[in-house]
Amino acid sequence: MNEIRTHTATVVRVDQLTPRMIRVTFSVPDYAGTGHADEWVPIFFGEPGDHRQRRNYTARAIRPDAGEVDVDFVVHEHGLAVDWVRSATPGQQLQWWDQIGGSYGPPADTDWRLVVGDIAALPAIGRIVEELPAGERATVVAEVFDEADRQEWVTAGDVDVRWLHGSGEGRAPSRLEEAVRTFPEPDGQGYIWMAGETRTVRATRRYLRHERRLAGERYSLTGYWLTNADDWAARFEPIAAEMEAIWTRGEAEGRDLEEIIDEYDTALDRAGL
Ligand SMILES: Cc1cc2nc3c(=O)[nH]c(=O)nc-3n(C[C@H](O)[C@H](O)[C@H](O)COP(=O)(O)OP(=O)(O)OC[C@H]3O[C@@H](n4cnc5c(N)ncnc54)[C@H](O)[C@@H]3O)c2cc1C
Repeated sequence: MNEIRTHTATVVRVDQLTPRMIRVTFSVPDYAGTGHADEWVPIFFGEPGDHRQRRNYTARAIRPDAGEVDVDFVVHEHGLAVDWVRSATPGQQLQWWDQIGGSYGPPADTDWRLVVGDIAALPAIGRIVEELPAGERATVVAEVFDEADRQEWVTAGDVDVRWLHGSGEGRAPSRLEEAVRTFPEPDGQGYIWMAGETRTVRATRRYLRHERRLAGERYSLTGYWLTNADDWAARFEPIAAEMEAIWTRGEAEGRDLEEIIDEYDTALDRAGL
């Protein structure tokens, strides 16, 4: 196993934010953020370096002076991370891999933003909204199971939040792709950020790139989780090497990232994934 660098994160507080969301405040004294509003941390729930037991979570709030980072966990039915958070108590420790990521980055000439996601995306959406400066415009479409999942955010920006209830979350088909397709785009340059169930996100990316023909810098879409993840992983396993080769070959050839993603997604579609 390659040597990897981690930060030790110690649980300070555990709060029930809404019926389906638990906030854990960690003490991570050496944590340095990326500056991306949707920045995420790969967390090991088993041995550091065992990527089968790693899950990604958003750094919902960072308080460098206190050395604290909040992470909001969706309480879905079962899973390594969710089982851990159900019984999390102060003093417990996890290892955070130092490979922090982030993708939210509207180009400087952006006039409006469309920010779309499901309940797992609420931590990132909350940060995007809260960090929006005065004069910047965003429409948020957030899909949650019912009204109790709603959150409120304070922002200097000009933000319109629309909640969708009763769809998505793996229990009913998501309406997020439809929300993007039917969004009445304002004049000027836009930027679309989306995160949520991976197949929904993939279908929406296909629309934006191949039907709407947006340039790659005008959107940033990230698949956060998969319905029936175990079944998906079992069917992915036999083609894992072939899929990895798509990335290595594409990068070695210096191809455009969006083209590589096209090839990758087509291969997933072919495999029924
Ligand atoms: C960049 C990034 C940032 C993320 N940020 C957050 C965050 O801040 N908060 C957060 O809660 N999640 C976030 N996620 C999603 C989170 O990593 C996944 O939901 C993860 O699969 C949860 O791990 P688990 O061990 O609990 O479940 P797993 O062991 O991965 O899955 C077990 C079962 O639960 C199902 N499942 C997994 N996630 C969900 C879900 N959200 N809703 C319904 N069913 C689910 C799977 O289909 C599977 O059948 C983020 C993901 C990414 C990629």
